[in-house]
Amino acid sequence: MLDWYRRNQRKLPWRRTRNPYAIWVSEVMLQQTRVDTVVPYYERFLRRFPTVQSLAQCEEDELMKAWEGLGYYTRARRLREAAQKIVKNHQGRIPSTVQELLSLPGIGPYSAGAIASIAFGLDVPVLDGNVTRVLSRLYTVREDTNLARTRDRLEFLALELIPQGRAGLFNQALMDLGATVCIPGNPRCLVCSIRSHCAAFECGEQDRIPKKKERLPVPHYDVGLAVILRKDRVLITKRPPEGLLGGLWEFPGGKKKPGETMEACIAREMKEELGIEVKVKHPLTPVRHAYTHFKVTLYAFICTHTRGHPQPRTATEARWVPVDHLDALPFPKGSLKVLEVFRDSITNDVA
Ligand code: SF4
Repeated sequence: MLDWYRRNQRKLPWRRTRNPYAIWVSEVMLQQTRVDTVVPYYERFLRRFPTVQSLAQCEEDELMKAWEGLGYYTRARRLREAAQKIVKNHQGRIPSTVQELLSLPGIGPYSAGAIASIAFGLDVPVLDGNVTRVLSRLYTVREDTNLARTRDRLEFLALELIPQGRAGLFNQALMDLGATVCIPGNPRCLVCSIRSHCAAFECGEQDRIPKKKERLPVPHYDVGLAVILRKDRVLITKRPPEGLLGGLWEFPGGKKKPGETMEACIAREMKEELGIEVKVKHPLTPVRHAYTHFKVTLYAFICTHTRGHPQPRTATEARWVPVDHLDALPFPKGSLKVLEVFRDSITNDVA
């Protein structure tokens, strides 16, 4: 595995450093996001927040702007909380034991194992999706109804395999083999360096292990959004810190009810959510966006504010922001698409 890794490893920016802070940032970004997506975010993030101290001190909007588009935004807030704890309790040094790492916000067994082995050279295993798939095939581990038992078994096997003092390289080798050779669907067994040890290959079961997960149908929602103008300003609201897209700004609005027109939906949402009245004027080009568990079509309308002071019920803040300052604030991807069609509409109007 180590020979194979030396020749075939993916060239990734976090592999060019032994800096525990940089490795920690990369591991948190990789928790739920693909490697290709993470690379430019990782590089920008470290330019913006080069040390644990700079991350601990940053403003929330600044943090979320750096994370904008990466998804699973709770990760960013936990990262900053952990940085604050590290500055306060560990003199700004990333702790090096699994136990201490696990006590930090946003670090679970996978990230703790990855940081401890890659940054500090401790002989601990990691079980991400790629490693789980490789080991399940290598030892024909079929998923038990008791998932914890399957996990314990895989963790035991992973630990047994680690060559003493080389866990960092070995764990990354398993990850890369899973990402490039022992892939889901049709593994590339004919070019696999550990084929002669592989029980699933031996009995021709590599396509059936691990068991494929059933894909649930993805629901779709029609959402009405208000782009409310007052002179050169537009009204935006901030989502609550916890939950989906937490801490990001957006155009106010909500799901359309059955039988309701989009205009009526927007007028109702503004009353219910902000206690204001608006005149719904004309539509912008609808925008589609897919989140992990659902899809939306966003029907944004230009509106004018007619009555009431915005008093958010579920949002944490409502703010009138000059149109040319919107870029400084963090928005979810769907709202960024709406912002783009809104800007196009202004440009076309001027033209
Ligand atoms: Fe995966 Fe095939 Fe290699 Fe086994 S032989 S580890 S199934 S790629």
